[in-house]
Amino acid sequence: MNAFNYFMPTKLFFGVNCISENKNVFNDYGSKAMIFTGKSSAKMNGSLNDIISVLEDLSKEYIIFDEVEENPSLETVAKSAEIGIKEGVDFVIGIGGGSPMDTAKAASCLIANPDKKSSDLFVADILSHIPLIEIPTTAGTGSETTPYSVVTLHGQKTKSSIAQKVFAEAAFLDAKYMNTLSVKVTANTAVDALTHLIEGYMNKKANFMSDLLAESGFKTFSECISDLRAKEYTLETREKLLMASTIAGMEIAQSGTSLPHAMGYLPTYAKDIPHGQINGVLTKAYLELFGENEKVNRLLYLLGFKSLEELGDFLYDVLGETEKFTLEEINRYSDIVIKNKAKLSSHPLPLTREDIFQVYKKSLL
Ligand code: NAP
Ligand code: ZN
Repeated sequence: MNAFNYFMPTKLFFGVNCISENKNVFNDYGSKAMIFTGKSSAKMNGSLNDIISVLEDLSKEYIIFDEVEENPSLETVAKSAEIGIKEGVDFVIGIGGGSPMDTAKAASCLIANPDKKSSDLFVADILSHIPLIEIPTTAGTGSETTPYSVVTLHGQKTKSSIAQKVFAEAAFLDAKYMNTLSVKVTANTAVDALTHLIEGYMNKKANFMSDLLAESGFKTFSECISDLRAKEYTLETREKLLMASTIAGMEIAQSGTSLPHAMGYLPTYAKDIPHGQINGVLTKAYLELFGENEKVNRLLYLLGFKSLEELGDFLYDVLGETEKFTLEEINRYSDIVIKNKAKLSSHPLPLTREDIFQVYKKSLL
């Protein structure tokens, strides 16, 4: 058995209205909050109002930063942290998909360390953070239970995780906020969660605890497959997708993601392809690298698929057609990815540039 340390310190509150029903939790974290959201969804789905009414009930001050873009940039993190420092906030709340949750996470480090620059986020994991509360409104990234924060680096034309490992102090999981998600975002984010489950399970660092979480996640995800195909979702399905995503976050917090995530950031940057979609598109060819493999067979079984072809068909059905790339583009991406030794070390088998190239070629040409 692989040796492991299990650590996941986030308090989880699950269920419809879990924010108002557990409002005293907010007393544990500070007196002035900075709330991070995207441009509009948190206003639309009721999550922002729920948070504001709890903070007002508890007589806490708050400011709102609603400028987080999709695939948030390091510049946005720096700008928000500067405002947080000037305003003297002492805890942060991320509401939204992975973009606002990750921005709140990265900003919580800079606000706790006003003498540091945003580039210091990429220097060894040493920065403290002010308390962080996460409220997912997509069911995909699992950022509420991972210590990762992914930001766009325009200078390098790609995305990267910061070096700091920050777990939220608490996360509130209320699937009613997901009723406003479009079919497209529901599909892309659900597939993101599925790829976390798969990459964490097939990871070199997979261990007893991460496999336990993954297998429960596959089973829960399998119960959502018919609704994902039909593109109609009950609240119960949304709750299961949310749990699959949160469990996947707990899993990759232990074992990590792998090739599709390492390979997906470049095409996402180049053509704005959503994170979950690109990872899903790369998944079938990635799993083919394992050949006949007991764990691949087990994950297919738990998901209810008879073969890798069936998993590929499902991914195609829910994601639709993806933009195509040129041979020159995938050659360039292969050259970059093969140098990412840290990420490639998550793959348990020997790996060549040709393997990477073939995964891109089968998926994107
Ligand atoms: P997102 O970029 O946060 O949001 C995508 C879109 O969905 C936005 O237009 C957003 O609108 C909208 N939206 C969010 N919640 C909604 C709701 N309840 N109803 C209607 N629309 C809603 O997407 P995401 O896929 O959740 O996050 C992707 C980011 O997370 C990427 O940067 C990725 O790299 C990162 N990620 C992080 C981790 C981690 O462990 N930290 C893991 C995987 C991925 P608004 O802009 O108006 O809010
Ligand atoms: Zn992901």
